[in-house]
Parts: sequence; C-alpha cells; structure tokens
Amino acid sequence: MSIDHLVVVGAGLAGIRACESARREGYLGALTLVGAEEHLPYDRPPLSKELLMGPDEPVIPELREREFLVDELGIEIRTGAPAVGLDVESRKLATAAGDIGYDALIIAVGAHARRLPGSDGVGGIHTVRTYADTQSIWRALRSSSRVVVVGAGFIGAEVASAARKLGLSATIVEAAPAPLTRSLGIEGGALCADLHAANGTELILGVGVEGFRTGIVQTGDLQTGESRVTGVVLSDGRVLDADLVVVGVGAIPSTQWLADSVVALNDRDGGVECDEYLAALGVDGTPIPGVWAAGDVAHWPNGLFDRRMRLEHWTSAAEQGALAARNALSDGDLTAYQTVPYFWSDWYGARLQFVGVPHTDELLVQHRADKTGGTVVLYREADTLAGVLTIGRPDLIMKYRRLVSKRASWADGVAFGAAHC
Ligand SMILES: Cc1cc2nc3c(=O)[nH]c(=O)nc-3n(C[C@H](O)[C@H](O)[C@H](O)COP(=O)(O)OP(=O)(O)OC[C@H]3O[C@@H](n4cnc5c(N)ncnc54)[C@H](O)[C@@H]3O)c2cc1C
Repeated sequence: MSIDHLVVVGAGLAGIRACESARREGYLGALTLVGAEEHLPYDRPPLSKELLMGPDEPVIPELREREFLVDELGIEIRTGAPAVGLDVESRKLATAAGDIGYDALIIAVGAHARRLPGSDGVGGIHTVRTYADTQSIWRALRSSSRVVVVGAGFIGAEVASAARKLGLSATIVEAAPAPLTRSLGIEGGALCADLHAANGTELILGVGVEGFRTGIVQTGDLQTGESRVTGVVLSDGRVLDADLVVVGVGAIPSTQWLADSVVALNDRDGGVECDEYLAALGVDGTPIPGVWAAGDVAHWPNGLFDRRMRLEHWTSAAEQGALAARNALSDGDLTAYQTVPYFWSDWYGARLQFVGVPHTDELLVQHRADKTGGTVVLYREADTLAGVLTIGRPDLIMKYRRLVSKRASWADGVAFGAAHC
C-alpha cells in the first residue's frame, strides 16, 4: 500500500528519530507527530542529572527546535493531544483533540513512572520522568534537608547523587538485596553500592516501604491544608525523617489507551508486543498492517541474544525509532532490529556504562593495573562474553560492545580485558 500519511504517536526520542528517519529515507508524504505533553520532544537523561544540580531553574532540553521540525522536516506537530484509542480496521488514531487517519502508524509513547500507594496528592513526594517533574524536584532540593530516595535503580542513584552534591543528607531504600539487580544482577549491583557509601549516601537494602508519614503544612499562623511528607515508614518498622521523597521504582509502558484495541500487550507490563521488524502484533499473534512500535514501549525478539526484550535505554529508543520508520516505509524490504543493549548513568562524577545482558554464570572484576582508577566487570554466560559493566572507563565500553556483538568467547573477553586494564 502506498503511504501518504505517516503518523507517529509519542513526541519523545523514539518519535523524533522516526520522523527524521522517514525524511532521510526520502519520504515526502504527510508526517504528523502526536504528543501527550505540551512540549516539543525533549531529552530525558539530563532530567535526573545535570539539570537537578545547576544553579538556575532547569531549561527544557529540547531535542530539536520547532523551526527545524516544521520548516525543514515538514512535520505537523500536535502536542497536548494524547492518543486515546486506535481503530486498526479504519486506520484511525483517536486523540483528545480529534481523530487522525493514517496509512502507517508508529507507536512511540514510552513509559510513565510507577507510583507508590499512598503517595498521590502528598506534597514532597516526587517521581522523575518529565520536565515538569525535574522542575519540581529542582525547587524541592533547594528547600529540603533530608532526602529519601525509594528504589536504588539508576534514576534513584542519580537523584541521591545530586542531593549529596547540593550538601543534603540522602538515604536510599531498596527492597532487593543489592542495587540495580534487574539491570546488573545481584553481584554487579553490589559492586555499585560502594559508590554510595564512598559519597556519604546511606543505602538501606532488603527493606520495603510500607507507607508515608504526613503532616499539614503551616505557614506562619496559616494552615494551608496541604498534606506534606514528613517521613517514610519502612517494612521493618523504622521511620526515616524526610522532607523530600523521590520514588524511583521503575516505569510502566504508557499503553492504557490501547487496552480496547487489537494490539497485543505484554501480560506483565502492558508493553506492545512486536515482531523482529518492530511491527506491532495483534492479539492473534500476526503483524497488524501499518502499525509499528519503537522505544521504551516495545517488546521484540532480539535475534542477537535469542530472547525477547523491552529496553528502557536512550540508544535503543533512538535506533528503534529510526528503524521502525524505515520498515514502515520500506514496501516489504524489512530489516530486523538486533542490538547489544547499552546504557550509561552518572553518579557522583563517575560514569557507569553497561553493554550486553546481565545474565551470568560467572562475574570477573578487573581493575586498572596501575591503580589509577576505573573498574571493568565481565559477565560470562556459558562460554560467551554476555555483558560488560565499566565504572570510569568510557574509553573501553564501545570496544566491549563490538566484542559482545560478535558473540566473542569468554576467553577472548578476559584476554581483551587483561590487555587493556
Ligand atoms: C530521568 C531519566 C533519566 C534517564 N537517563 C538515562 C541514561 O542516563 N542513559 C540511558 O541510556 N537512558 C536513560 N533514560 C532512558 C531514556 O531516556 C529512555 O529510554 C528514552 O527517553 C525512551 O524514549 P521513548 O521515545 O521510547 O519514550 P519517551 O522519552 O518517554 O517519550 C514518549 C513520549 O510519548 C508521550 N506519550 C505518552 N503517552 C502518550 C499518548 N497516549 N499519546 C501521545 N503521546 C503520549 C510522552 O508524553 C512522551 O513525551 C532515562 C530516562 C529518564 C526518565
């Protein structure tokens, strides 16, 4: 079918890369970008990093200027218009601002932050996913003294790191026995725990959060009536005093609006099930004509590792957005998406980077021979090098990514590390 109207739903990283890729491929037809937020597409990694620490109110890290999107790429931008439904038979996307017909549709709606029960409507409890979240936390960090972060994942660690940099006390509470178990495994995560200790962040592991203590805000003689957090109640009975709580306990694909459609959603997290070309699957398990997905929302079979994945990483969101557009416009000449997962995170001035998968039969820690700093952790799965974590060794990580993509043997990975550490 000839495509005269490509609609990209989700004005984030994967969405903008899809639009750019469509034009790069020579597509001249109508191109509409639909976004739930009022903003143009912006970048999320800085939201939990430098934007929290700067002296000035955070400026939105837009990925592209409006003039470029509209004049150069010829995109019709419809922001502040969340998608609310999808009819694949009549090829219509329903949005809060009206229906939009499409010939091809790319679902790139990302994910939203998971919240904890009892936190809604309580002042001083935040999540970090949007620019608005970062604006609120930036202000809160400047009027708080005791910060509790719930969840020792990457985003929680970055917020704790910002709080320490600003001279505040920071405590992280994590229900798992180590930080980052999902991303790095228990042993790999445990290695990162040292960074918190070395920078004065208290890390409480293996303890859940039962709820929050709150109080009514009083300003002078006036009670504003606003309920604000004063403490975090832990599952072991302890109560941590807190005037700022940041909850970093994961993200949920933003697919509620697809619940009544024929798009197959993952049983566990509601992400969009795709084939290897990022075509969205219907509930009957076959690709839905003209519907694709990309970014944090997409589950797909990664042929390089022979397993289905859904990644929440910047690099894969960008790559998937570009490829989904190429495949959508390709007239049948499809390219499978295969990748070595890669992400980075910045803590206390150190850069952590990971490539591959954290499934492991053995972990090998290599330090720089001359002790000038930097750590490399190799993950073995059977007799292959499955993953590599580096702390403070940005010079090595892409070399390891190439090794993992070639499915290098464990012996080759160890030898490479010995030669370069
Ligand atoms: C605070 C933070 C820090 C991060 N740091 C790193 C890092 O250091 N390294 C790394 O590798 N990755 C990092 N990531 C992950 C990376 O930013 C994401 O993987 C990437 O943004 C995903 O892009 P996306 O386009 O799939 O989703 P998003 O960026 O979430 O964009 C999706 C867009 O769709 C919109 N949307 C949602 N629902 C609808 C709807 N119904 N209709 C229309 N639009 C909708 C959303 O408003 C959003 O603008 C970080 C993420 C966050 C939140």
